Amino acid sequence: MRYLKLAELYESLSETAKRLEKTEILSEFLKELSESDRDVLYLLMGDIYPEYNEKKIGISSQLAIKAISKATGTEKGKVVKEWKSIGDLGKVAEKLTKNKKQATLTGSKNLTTEKVLENLRKLPELEGKGAVDKKISLITELLTSASPVEALYLVRTLIGDLRIGIQESTVREAMASAFFKGEKESALKVQDAINKSNDLAEVFDTARTGKEKDLGKIKIEVGKPIKAMLAQKSKTIKEGFEAVGKPCAIEYKYDGFRLIIHKRGNEILLFTRTLENVSRQFPEVADCIKKYVKGDSFILDSEAVGFDKKTKEYKPFQSISQRIKRKYDIEKLQNELPVEVNIFDILYYNGKSMLDEPFKKRTELVKKIIESHPYRIIHSKQIITDDEKKAEAFYRSALKDNQEGVMMKNLEAPYSPGRRVGNMVKIKPEEKDLDLIITGGEYGTGKRSGWISSFILSCRDGDKFLEIGKVGTGFKEKKEEGISFEELTEKIKPLITEEKGKSVKIKPKIIVSVTYQEIQKSPTYSSGFALRFPRFTALRPDKPLSETNSLKEIEKDFENQKRNWKYG
Ligand code: AMP
Repeated sequence: MRYLKLAELYESLSETAKRLEKTEILSEFLKELSESDRDVLYLLMGDIYPEYNEKKIGISSQLAIKAISKATGTEKGKVVKEWKSIGDLGKVAEKLTKNKKQATLTGSKNLTTEKVLENLRKLPELEGKGAVDKKISLITELLTSASPVEALYLVRTLIGDLRIGIQESTVREAMASAFFKGEKESALKVQDAINKSNDLAEVFDTARTGKEKDLGKIKIEVGKPIKAMLAQKSKTIKEGFEAVGKPCAIEYKYDGFRLIIHKRGNEILLFTRTLENVSRQFPEVADCIKKYVKGDSFILDSEAVGFDKKTKEYKPFQSISQRIKRKYDIEKLQNELPVEVNIFDILYYNGKSMLDEPFKKRTELVKKIIESHPYRIIHSKQIITDDEKKAEAFYRSALKDNQEGVMMKNLEAPYSPGRRVGNMVKIKPEEKDLDLIITGGEYGTGKRSGWISSFILSCRDGDKFLEIGKVGTGFKEKKEEGISFEELTEKIKPLITEEKGKSVKIKPKIIVSVTYQEIQKSPTYSSGFALRFPRFTALRPDKPLSETNSLKEIEKDFENQKRNWKYG
């Protein structure tokens, strides 16, 4: 397929902010895609493989600048100058390509999506000496054959900032409308297939045949990451029982991080809830699984939680979070920050999917196949009861054990990957905290000069992010003491998309937990709200963007707060 066709699609998608219009445009496009164009679905999401594949394009703005300079015959300094004034490297590439084409009167060659994918897929393979030059020449080759609009989207794809406002949910709706009746039912079936396979091209392969029933044939596979089932919230144990029925299972809600464990023969794979493969970071978990869990092949759902080696007390998530990203000194870290794996569900066992089995049966199987070894691997602490008093006492013991609260689970419910379901609810003490995303910042002065010392926080509104405040407390001055300004500045630098004076704008990638005292109405920020006394508490590398708190949730919190003033 010609890349121009895709670039034009990107362009029309970016011209409307309306979700429905985006869906319609995308749906028409999908109808015209042939079987061999399936990989275009990755490009549509700004990717080259399914989301979970670790091979990413990973090109920095600096490298893209070099390639633009080479491809358009423009001095590097001029490209940078244009970037500073336009603020969008894609637009810079578009402008400079236009200028060059006018000057040389050469038309663009027939760039195809196949060629784009071929070159982009070579980028993550290049390492070591000469890699940078090879990368630049692969990119330059594409840019020299590109028309202005193609150059615009090539560069945006390279730096991971497509700006077309397409999410997985838009693709879901578009597939439902292109190939089925477009009703809610079909969209749910498409979403289920996506949640199981996590591969939009695979789902497209099936969907394009128009046989809705075949979507159900897409199965989970050992070795391929699967989206975790998520919980809704209840305020009290009583409300929890109303949601999940009596009797129900009640489990500790461990304050760790989600770990989905796959075993196939002798191979163990570990994935986080963002589908990141963390097998290398937790070799001791793989050992435990091999030793203490019976079965040839399985997929287990669990929470890994840190504990103090000496006192054996559970520690909060933040204290072990560095283990998720750290790729070196694994053994040392494993020793200093040990984790206990708490298994609470099973999705697949010895060749059979367990998703449609009732939770009662799944939890029994978990108990049967695990040999519990406290501080290494255990079946999550659980009671099955219909008695509110017993449930309350269990909740209190979870809190006393430094855990977040409890989960209440319907005994008859299936496992629905990727869904936030009402038959599993979490209960934790009321405290005001939000998960927000950093979208900008400001460099500090004095002893903080050189570091970004104030961070702009945003909440989610559909596929946009709206500002809701700034946070500058809760960080450490020195690197060794926790998350410091310096450390966060280092994380932010490669994400900068615009820089003006001391202010920077960044790609929405970093999610943080913040506590606050109050939400106020405010004309200062685009969300219309501001946080009073926000304080940073943790980085949340374990959460995907879609789990940032939404404007709707903030409005709800604001209303609840008002009610409490009245009656509290
Ligand atoms: P939240 O992150 O507040 O939406 O809470 C849901 C998370 O609690 C899940 O994604 C798990 O990581 C975690 N969790 C801890 N213990 C359990 C448990 N026993 N069952 C299910 N999820 C649990």
